[in-house]
Amino acid sequence: MNVQERPTTGDMYRCSKCEFEIHITNGCQCDDCTTQLQCCGQPLEKVTAIPVQNPRPSQALDQNNA
Ligand SMILES: [Zn+2]
Ligand SMILES: [Zn+2]
Repeated sequence: MNVQERPTTGDMYRCSKCEFEIHITNGCQCDDCTTQLQCCGQPLEKVTAIPVQNPRPSQALDQNNA
């Protein structure tokens, strides 16, 4: 039902409650990703705000879809 967005290299996830934050240093490659990143009993928020030196600029278009 819920399409789980797989963690990609350079992504950051943060817990909105305790501000626990993780930085994906190696993205998931599996086809049917069911990775659940959780803290404080809730899913971590994806907060990929800091520009990461990444040779694939297409990622930046994801959130600018207005
Ligand atoms: Zn996975
Ligand atoms: Zn937390």
